[in-house]
Amino acid sequence: MLQLEFKPYILKKKHIFKISGASRTKTPILLTKIRYRGIEGLGEASMPPLYGETIDSATDFLHKLDLSGFQSPFEVEKILQAVDAIALGNTAVKASIDIALHDLVSKLLMLPLHQYLGLPACTLATSKTIGINSPETIQKRVEEASEFNYLKIKLGTGTKEDKAIIRAIREVSDQPLYVDANQGWEDPGEALAIIKWLSDKGVVFIEQPLPKDDIDGQIWLKNKSPLPIVGDEGVQRLPDMAQARELYHGVNIKLMKSTGIHEARKMIHAARGLGLKVLLGCMSETSCAITAAAHLGTLADWVDLDGNLNVTNDPYQASEVADGKIRLPEDPGIGLKKCSWKKI
Ligand code: MG
Repeated sequence: MLQLEFKPYILKKKHIFKISGASRTKTPILLTKIRYRGIEGLGEASMPPLYGETIDSATDFLHKLDLSGFQSPFEVEKILQAVDAIALGNTAVKASIDIALHDLVSKLLMLPLHQYLGLPACTLATSKTIGINSPETIQKRVEEASEFNYLKIKLGTGTKEDKAIIRAIREVSDQPLYVDANQGWEDPGEALAIIKWLSDKGVVFIEQPLPKDDIDGQIWLKNKSPLPIVGDEGVQRLPDMAQARELYHGVNIKLMKSTGIHEARKMIHAARGLGLKVLLGCMSETSCAITAAAHLGTLADWVDLDGNLNVTNDPYQASEVADGKIRLPEDPGIGLKKCSWKKI
C-alpha cells in the first residue's frame, strides 16, 4: 500500500534574486513523501511564480491522485502515466511524485539513485548563478563564488547595462561564464550584436536570448550566432524537442519542467539523437530535487545545479559541494540525510 503525504514550504533566498522581467526573495515549495513498507521516498515541487503553479494548485492536484490501485512503487511507469493524466501542465507537482518514486524504488533496491539509473558515481562542476544587480554588488557575489569553475550570469536588462555587468565581472574574475538572458533581448539583430560582443569575453553559451514565441527570430539567430544558443523557457517537455534542433544548439533540461527524472532522461536521449548539447538546470529548490537531478549529471554537458546553495532554510542535507564540485551521495536513493517533517 502506497501512502502519499505532502507539506507546503516556503524556501527563502539568501539575497533578492533578479532576472530579466522578475525578482523575488522566496519560492513556494510542496514537499512530498511516498511511504511503502516502512520506507519513505522524498520528492518536491518548486514553483517560481512565473511558471504558474502554486501551493494551492499543487495541493488540489495531489488530492486528485489515487495511489490505492497500485500494488507497489515499482510500477513507476504506470503510476507516472496516471499522474500525467490528471491534468495538463502542472509539471512541478508531477515532478514531486516522480522524484519521490525514484527515491523510494532505489532505496528499496538499496542502490544510490544514479546506480539504479545505470549511471556511474561522479563529481560535477556546477556553475554558480549571479542575479542581476549593480556592478558593485555583482563583483562582491563573483568574489564570493571564487571556488566555482563556472559562473551563470543573468543578463537581459539592456545592452548598456548588460555590457556594464560583464565588464564589472571581468575586472575581478576570469571564470568561464554561462549567460542567461531569460528572453530579455527582444530584437534578433540587437541580440546578435551583443552575442558577438560577448563572444571574446569567455562566454560558453547563451541561454534563451529571445522570447520563446519568436520562432523566426530564434531560427535566424541560431544560424548566425558565434556562440551556442541554449533553449530554456522554450523547451519544457519531450514534445518540445521536436522543434528544438531548429531553434537551439542545446537545451536546458530541468526536473520541474520535464515532470521529473523519467521524462528528463527521455529528453536527454532525444537531445543526443538530435545532436543537441544538454544543460542540466534547476529552479530554486531544496537539496531533494537538486540532488535528484545531480544523479543524472553524467549525462549532461553542462551542470547548473546550485538552487539549494542560494537559500537560507534548506530542510534537507545531501550532496556536498567542495571546490565548486557536487559530490553525489553513495547512500541508497537520492541520499538525503534523515530529516523529520515535524521539525520543519
Ligand atoms: Mg534559464
